[in-house]
Amino acid sequence: MSLGWLALARGTLDRVADRRRDDNWVAAAWAGSRVVVVEQGKVLMKVSGTPELALLTSREAPEGPRYLLGVDEDKIAYFAVEAALPELDGAEPADLRRIGALLGDLHSGLMTHAVALANWHATHRFCPRCGAETAVIAAGHVRVCPQDGSEHYPRLDPAAIMLVHDTADRVLLARHPAWPERRVSILAGFVEPGESLEQAVAREVYEEVGLVVRNARYLGSQPWPLPQSLMVGFTCEAEEGQELRFSDGEIEEAHWYSRDELKAAALAGEILLPGKVSIARQLLEHWYGGDLPGSWGL
Ligand SMILES: [Zn+2]
Repeated sequence: MSLGWLALARGTLDRVADRRRDDNWVAAAWAGSRVVVVEQGKVLMKVSGTPELALLTSREAPEGPRYLLGVDEDKIAYFAVEAALPELDGAEPADLRRIGALLGDLHSGLMTHAVALANWHATHRFCPRCGAETAVIAAGHVRVCPQDGSEHYPRLDPAAIMLVHDTADRVLLARHPAWPERRVSILAGFVEPGESLEQAVAREVYEEVGLVVRNARYLGSQPWPLPQSLMVGFTCEAEEGQELRFSDGEIEEAHWYSRDELKAAALAGEILLPGKVSIARQLLEHWYGGDLPGSWGL
């Protein structure tokens, strides 16, 4: 059984990739569009009522680079515009960690896509072949080099995130050295070149906590544009009784929990679990078999 609801994997738009290079179509779509303004990972959210973004019409939108996000069922186009967030009555800036899980499907998808594209543009201005400044084409989805004509597409860093359980049916929760006391999560790490996701799962678990694991099983994925990851979620199994070793400095402490121990520790506030926006939380609740209490607020 795979994961169900994932906060940042709920986009509903048709991305109309075949229209992005049609400048006339894009210009016409812009005229009647809704716009999400994005500035350094933040967008405007309505302060009261059901959590939703404060979208602008294209006429109201500030000047800035425009990225086509897609088209809804009513053929209304949505764009992101990168600009300073305007002052707007009844709206305030918010980031993905805070509101990604609160927004409805359409708005969560809009924000995730807008932030991801903006993050890519912010760090990929120059051609990796020759160093020339590249130009934005394809309604914000491609950058092209004026010197050598090479085209460059948005980059993603795939990361494996894995819930380790043992043969005694306990889950491993770990704390990063930089995290405050009590904050814990499951393990994760970036996939290396020349490595499969399953190999990354086994390597990361061994590096971080010294456990040999098997049966890596894919359960779901979600974009995590903080700044440019795709989180790919797995479970894997460790033989009971292996010694935990924290050799690579990524983990400060880690402990095994049965389902009853996990719930009791979370209820008592002895541990603070990752928030609803994260795939870590969904992997944990999938293993647990229901909702768990408390989080460290993300
Ligand atoms: Zn170039």
